[in-house]
Amino acid sequence: MKKEISDISGTFTLNNGVEMPYLGLGVYQSKNGQEVANAVHWALKTGYRHIDTAAIYRNEDGVGQGIKISNVPREDVFVVSKVWNSDQGYDSTLRAFEKSLERLQLDYLDLYLVHWPVAEKYKDTWRALEELYRQKKVRAIGVSNFLRHQLEDLMESAKIIPMVNQMEFHPHLVQQDLIDFCQKHQIQYEAWSPLMQGNIFDLREFHHLANSYNKSIAQIVLRYNLQKGIVTIPKSANRERINANADVFDFELCDQDIDYLDAMDRNHRFGPDPDNFEWSYVL
Ligand code: NAD
Repeated sequence: MKKEISDISGTFTLNNGVEMPYLGLGVYQSKNGQEVANAVHWALKTGYRHIDTAAIYRNEDGVGQGIKISNVPREDVFVVSKVWNSDQGYDSTLRAFEKSLERLQLDYLDLYLVHWPVAEKYKDTWRALEELYRQKKVRAIGVSNFLRHQLEDLMESAKIIPMVNQMEFHPHLVQQDLIDFCQKHQIQYEAWSPLMQGNIFDLREFHHLANSYNKSIAQIVLRYNLQKGIVTIPKSANRERINANADVFDFELCDQDIDYLDAMDRNHRFGPDPDNFEWSYVL
């Protein structure tokens, strides 16, 4: 059944029943300290209820500060972080999780993700996430950048099916087969770089669509994510853009325009390929 996308604090339901707000704020490359704290504060003021960070973004302290100064009750904010590649493995993941909590000044996370599928390590990492979930230190666990074969391999030994797979997703990288696979296994698909890291604004083919709805390109593309049932986390540290990116609940794309956006797929990545990435790279 199609979910109505009508509200900034609206949610998709994960396979364990946890409600995940379908619009979040991404904070990759937002500077630790005042910059990211302000971004989080403004987003929460605007009505966002989901923040996506990661240990490797090195801004978890600032994210924690932003949540604190916003005065939004902790239980109303969905906070996500990720275990970095060099911390993968069972014990090191448990330690990395505690450090993330400490920096965020929180006593639980809403979602913890395996950032990349580091071969030979991700199964042990996943066992650690299962343990954190069992101990109720995190409300949901998932993966990021896992292609179908990596998901299948993980699921062979996993006690818990991942609740989320966070992937690069935009009209030039649709990966519909992977979306369908995740849907079949009740793994919530989530888009990173939904705006192609800002490159989307240079593409002429989006302009007429934006004009026809009297919306911006960013709003069209974010709405496209949500109508496809995909959680989306656009990044901005600019107050007007944070506001504008959430102004996507007063219009609806017709099916033909969703198909039109799907048909722009070129299998083009702006980020690394999960089958061939340098796991030790430092952002
Ligand atoms: P994005 O697609 O969200 O694009 C961000 C860029 O677009 C920034 O330069 C921003 O200034 C610009 N922008 C945002 N809104 C705009 C607007 N309304 N008008 C004009 N410009 C606008 O790129 P991203 O940051 O790579 O991805 C979003 C989030 O996804 C990240 O912040 C991070 O939280 C997450 N992420 C996860 C992974 C992963 O491996 N799991 C990788 C990359 C990003």
